[in-house]
Formats: sequence, C-alpha cells, structure tokens
Amino acid sequence: MLKKSRKAVALTGAGVSTESGIPDFRSVGGLWSRFDPFEYGTLGAFQRDPHKVWQMLKELLLLVDCRPNKGHEAMARLEEMGIVRGIITQNIDGLHQLAGSRHVVEFHGSMASFSCLGCGAKMPLAEVKEMAMPPLCSGCRSVLKPDVVFFDEQIPPKALLDTEELLCGVDLLLVVGTSCEVMPAALIPRQVLGQGGELIEINLVPVLKGRARLSLAGKFTEVMSAIVDQMTES
Ligand SMILES: [Zn+2]
Repeated sequence: MLKKSRKAVALTGAGVSTESGIPDFRSVGGLWSRFDPFEYGTLGAFQRDPHKVWQMLKELLLLVDCRPNKGHEAMARLEEMGIVRGIITQNIDGLHQLAGSRHVVEFHGSMASFSCLGCGAKMPLAEVKEMAMPPLCSGCRSVLKPDVVFFDEQIPPKALLDTEELLCGVDLLLVVGTSCEVMPAALIPRQVLGQGGELIEINLVPVLKGRARLSLAGKFTEVMSAIVDQMTES
C-alpha cells in the first residue's frame, strides 16, 4: 500500500511517545487523571490563576528532556526515502523533529516556545527552563504560557492551513499511536476517506477497525522498524 500510494502522510498521537517515557496524558495515572483538565488545561483557567496551572505545566517541562525512540527514527527514515510526505502530530514534545522528520505539522502546538499573554513577547524553551517557576515575562512580568493548544483554544490557523496543504491529494494516511478521539484532529482520517484515500492504522489496540484498510496491532517502535526494514529490503 505504501509503495502504491501517490501521497502518504501520517497522523500521530500520544502512543508514539510512550516508548520514549512520555505517558499518555489520558491514561490511568496520566496527567489528566491527576489534574482536572477543566481546572488546569484551559486558557480560562490559566488566565484566572496561572500559578496554579503552572503546577501542571512544570510536569510537561520535564517531559521535553525525553529522547525520540526507534519508531520516531523509522518515521523520519520513511520521509527521507520519499515514502511518507509529512506528519501531522497531536503531540507537543517535538520528538519527531528531534528524530529528523522535517515536514511536521504540530496540530496542538508545542512546548518549544512560550508566549507572554500580557505583551506578546516570545521566549524559547531553553531560557524558560532556567527561570524560577512560574516563569515571568522579562518585559511586563506577566506569567508565560507555553505555545500549546489548551482545551478551550482553537487550533492555530497556521496549523490548520498546513494540515490542509499536507492532506491535499493524500491517498494513504498512516494513523499511528492515536485513538482519534480528540476533535478536530479526529476529522483527519474522515477527510482522507472522504477524498477516496485509505487508512493504515498502527496502534497497540486497534480502534479503527472497519474504517482502516489495514490495522496493525503492535508496539510503535517494532511495527515502524519492521515497515522500514521491509521497504529497504525490497
Ligand atoms: Zn510580557
């Protein structure tokens, strides 16, 4: 299917980063089981009490020290081989880029940069990590917010545009490590099906049965490495 496709793209989610030590935020013991998303995961909550929301964000800061795994590397290799054109990721960890993927759309933003809601100043992660918590804008002393999309925020227009551009003409979508529950990212597989494309699902526990042409149940690192091995052998 990959070889026959005219344009293949991947949609990834939390499941690709769990083997890098980043827990699924929705899992038992995950971030959202310990921090109520309505109290900690919304822009409204941040504006009301940024110091409180930073108790949760501090944990996210630790995650960015994680390293890409063999699956991330295999996906970068598929792009290098011209087999996958790009990745739309729901992850905010930047691991695809660290592994060498070049065309990555960060649908939910990323932890790579921070913005001051007071004056709009931008601050890179490296500087924020050195600051006392919660980090304050050096200009106006407002609390900085990571450039991730909170639950009550819209997907950034740039991410939507880049997604549309990447999905244009796609006839094969790899759905990897995501249960496709979160809107509007959940619409992406539907869009590809709607334009006559097909889905290959790679999940520990397949969720797209009936919609995916092929469901590969297995660990991300193992399945992706096996795909690259097969593509390079033949
Ligand atoms: Zn400021």
